[in-house]
Amino acid sequence: MNLASLFTSTAAAQPERVALHLHGAGDTTYGQLDDASARFAGLLAGLGVAPGDRVGLMLPNTPDFPVAYYGILRLGAVVVPMNPLLKAREVAYYLGDSGARVIVTGPMSRSEVEEGAAQVDGVEVVVAEPETLPALLSEQTPATVVVERAEDDTAVLLYTSGTTGRPKGAELTHANLVNNVRITQSDLIQLAADDAIFGGLPLFHAFGQTCTLNTAMAAGARLLLLPRFDARAAASLLADQGATVFAGVPTMYAALLGLGDDAPSLPGLRVCVSGGAAMPVEVLHRFEERFDTVVLEGYGLSETSPVASFNLPDRERRAGSIGLPVTGVEMRIVDADGEPVETGAVGEVAIRGHNVMKGYWNKPTETAAVLSDDGWFRTGDMGRVDDDGYFYIVDRLKDLVIRGGFNVYPREIEEVLYEHPQVAEAAVIGVPHPTLGEEVAAAVALRPGSTVTEDELRDYVKGQVAAYKYPRLVWFVDELPKGATGKILKREIVPPTTGAEA
Ligand code: AMP
Repeated sequence: MNLASLFTSTAAAQPERVALHLHGAGDTTYGQLDDASARFAGLLAGLGVAPGDRVGLMLPNTPDFPVAYYGILRLGAVVVPMNPLLKAREVAYYLGDSGARVIVTGPMSRSEVEEGAAQVDGVEVVVAEPETLPALLSEQTPATVVVERAEDDTAVLLYTSGTTGRPKGAELTHANLVNNVRITQSDLIQLAADDAIFGGLPLFHAFGQTCTLNTAMAAGARLLLLPRFDARAAASLLADQGATVFAGVPTMYAALLGLGDDAPSLPGLRVCVSGGAAMPVEVLHRFEERFDTVVLEGYGLSETSPVASFNLPDRERRAGSIGLPVTGVEMRIVDADGEPVETGAVGEVAIRGHNVMKGYWNKPTETAAVLSDDGWFRTGDMGRVDDDGYFYIVDRLKDLVIRGGFNVYPREIEEVLYEHPQVAEAAVIGVPHPTLGEEVAAAVALRPGSTVTEDELRDYVKGQVAAYKYPRLVWFVDELPKGATGKILKREIVPPTTGAEA
């Protein structure tokens, strides 16, 4: 139950095989990655990093990420992954809150990191420049031994906003992550050494870290690294490298579909995994048809390592469902008091099992608000379960629009919009309204060459849902705002006018 050993045992068994392929660059073998990460551990030990110390890791998806990641873990230290787009203020907050001693970064974020680190006492900055890192590492004595850790020792401090407030560090233990990686590898994607898996999900985020990096390294597979997601680059990487597994958020699927006839065929692609946000059923079906593959949707959060439920490959798949809880994980739907509701009723999704974090780092009040004494974690997502135990996410608690006292779940309206042949992406939000409180509004990005008007699209939805639900305001945008993981950022959508009535 040690996250570093998951990688080092594979590296010992197959040092000659390729571990990483960086898009447009070369390959790194398991043996090379093992040696570089042992030297990186030596470098950190030289800086005084000891077991349990926190080390910030702020790098894009390049080979340096796993070099530093496994280097930190080998020493028994705790990885604090950080988005490489963070600004100096945010860097200072993460460093101060986690109490990190060292932060590892690259040339791209160097100046923000140096400025941020200067605001916190005693933080050392290590800059991993692709050009100079090999020379730097060659001078280090490899720390080859993996420092032993207890199962419930923290391996990764994963910052997340959770449902509210400033980012908090979810303490994920070695057991949390090793269990989640093993289940992903064996039950969900059934990854083996001859697989090549897409590595374009950010590795600083739970989904990319567990389901692509750690799962690939545990299986001895090839991870195809793409530092910045771009549909064209992703398609050529998948085709050229003969990818067998794709993992992405729904907007990545929509972007690949958006390439139209320009996308190559991907004959080797046996399975695709979607998570991180709701997969519109229409996009799922279109993608399967276009690329002749199968898309399995799963669900989870940073706090649950992340995988909690999945449409298992050997069970009936239900499009639109997040599937069944994975082995050793329980899920249930609860009311505002945390009491289970009857089957089929909508309530908050709660999760218990080996994947649930120890708590938020140094935040007992915030931890107690989401984690009960008997281990149930409240997700802040609204959902329901059917008679066969399949779970469905209705929406996020905080995305719910309340129009004149009626609940409107944006996701339901988005599904209708995605069914329109000219819609590429859609997001439904609530905008302030003087008498109704909130009005339903939709921002839509169209497919190239579309002719539909905003009014026509509004009437199209109006014809298919109850009168209180359809968006009175529909407006077109070139693209929807997205976070680093590719999730649509509803908070950043600015309507052209508010409270418009048709
Ligand atoms: P994060 O902690 O960044 O991984 O975000 C977790 C959140 O992503 C969850 O609380 C859900 O709101 C959302 N999410 C993840 N997977 C799904 C899914 N399959 N369907 C709907 N929402 C999802």
